[in-house]
Amino acid sequence: MAQVKEETNPYRIALQQLAGVAEILKLDDGIHEILQKPKRELTVHFPVNLEAGGTHVYTGYRVQHNSGRGPTKGGLRFHPDTDIDEVRALAMLMTWKCAVVNIPFGGAKGGVEVDPATLTRGELEDLTRRYTTEISLVIGPTSDIPAPDLGTNSQIMAWIMDTYSMHVGHTVPAVVTGKPVSIGGSEGRMDATGLGVLISAEAASVTRSTHVEGKKVVVQGFGNVGNAVARLFYKAGAQVVAVSDVRGGVYNGKGLNIPGLTEHARKTGSVVGFPESEPVTNAQLLELDCDILIPAAMQGQITAENANKIKAKIIIEAANGPTTPVADSILKDKGVLLVPDILANAGGVVVSYFEWVQDLQSFFWTETEVNDRMAQIMNRSYQEVLTTARKHDVDLRTAAYIVGVSRVAEATITRGIYP
Ligand code: NAD
Repeated sequence: MAQVKEETNPYRIALQQLAGVAEILKLDDGIHEILQKPKRELTVHFPVNLEAGGTHVYTGYRVQHNSGRGPTKGGLRFHPDTDIDEVRALAMLMTWKCAVVNIPFGGAKGGVEVDPATLTRGELEDLTRRYTTEISLVIGPTSDIPAPDLGTNSQIMAWIMDTYSMHVGHTVPAVVTGKPVSIGGSEGRMDATGLGVLISAEAASVTRSTHVEGKKVVVQGFGNVGNAVARLFYKAGAQVVAVSDVRGGVYNGKGLNIPGLTEHARKTGSVVGFPESEPVTNAQLLELDCDILIPAAMQGQITAENANKIKAKIIIEAANGPTTPVADSILKDKGVLLVPDILANAGGVVVSYFEWVQDLQSFFWTETEVNDRMAQIMNRSYQEVLTTARKHDVDLRTAAYIVGVSRVAEATITRGIYP
């Protein structure tokens, strides 16, 4: 096979994907240019005192891509490799995602260049509080609302909420979502992204005249999202045959005991070494024989290198940006049904929206109410994207972009350009 030069910069990939859809939609050049550029970008450098002595200066970002449809919303990532282009790309994906599921938010993303595993709990809290202070210029319950992502969790959201509240002098739960339930978090938020992935997988299975139950499933990543995905698919009667984390993966062709594995990972800090399993590398894991493959870790995992070797018939993108554009076209030619990130993992932002609504109203819903409303939105969105795919004879990613970008473009045109 001829060598294909792959684009790996996530922002340039996001721009390529937008350009393809701008052409299909015959988007006005001016509108296309507005959508290409983030509305606002903030880079901050801030010191944290280390417990072993000395100070380290960290770099963080908050990018707001587009607020045409409402306040901006998007996760906060703590990862050593994060950079401004990654955050720009993820902010743009959030704009399309909120529009695909038709919730009244624009897109944003934040990141700090740090490996949280290298910090003590006290240092992590100090870093979070100082970063929150630095970006408090641009965040707020009616302007921009962060949430958990790679390397962050509900405790970190609690520190953000507390820091912001201390500055304004009163408690502001709606400044952040993905908080613990005890301080205004929503029932169902912890597993929301995973549940949305399961709903998407069932919808995609029905498109292929089958169901998730009894299917062989492989999950890459065992964090906020990957763990919930593995547990929920196991509960739904799927055979989760392999999972992994950053240290490696585990495989059992008859299906892993996910409750046991969750306990093992909680005790040891990794899935590696789980009894009744064979070790696999992250690279091998993606190419295992299975029905449904769920990348739930990092971007750029399915590439020109491995796309041809993937055996899954359905891929559900729980991670953001796990598939490169070249891999996308290889998978399409192989007849793989791929549900794209901006649809498949939107359950998280949908329940974040519910959390924000509940916080603003100080009126809280039951887990059943939350899950039922999220399922309605996810199923309706899947059907809208599927109908669009059939109408334009395109794959589900292109169709999701058509739905998302056209809604954002319409809002931009309707509002007009100020002044
Ligand atoms: P997390 O930090 O909780 O978990 C990440 C998992 O991936 C961990 O198990 C980690 O060990 C593993 N991992 C890290 N690097 C890896 C590598 N190179 N190879 C294999 N595994 C690796 O993060 P998360 O919140 O679960 O997010 C995972 C993905 O889902 C990200 O792409 C994120 O943007 C996306 N996402 C998260 C949410 C959410 O609600 N948290 C919502 C939508 C999308």
